[in-house]
Amino acid sequence: MEIGAVIKHDIKKAPKTGDWRYMKPEVIKEKCVGCGACVKYCPEAVIETIDRKQLTIDHGKMSKVKGQILSNEVAQIDYYFCKGCGVCANVCPEKAIIMKKETECVKCGMEAERE
Ligand code: SF4
Ligand code: SF4
Repeated sequence: MEIGAVIKHDIKKAPKTGDWRYMKPEVIKEKCVGCGACVKYCPEAVIETIDRKQLTIDHGKMSKVKGQILSNEVAQIDYYFCKGCGVCANVCPEKAIIMKKETECVKCGMEAERE
């Protein structure tokens, strides 16, 4: 993997890029190993890894997937700014991020048309 860097911008001055989103990334926390690759590559710098203890479902326990112990860190996405580009899903080595079509309008909350 090539080494990259993200320069965090002043998020308070940023436009609500989440309004542009057509596809929504979803982190499968049981698969995420907290490696941080998605954090480095997200062009909007809206992913961070947080302690699993902050997720109410896990209650801070170490998770296991096929015998592999996951780290205590797990990726979390700020959907207010996520524009749905899918870079995070592409770079995740564990395929722990899946892209789903938005089911409702990001701006008004109305249900979107389905195909
Ligand atoms: S879809 Fe794009 S903007 Fe959203 S979290 Fe992933 S890499 Fe960042
Ligand atoms: S979602 Fe994937 S790339 Fe991001 S921290 Fe988890 S395992 Fe790593």
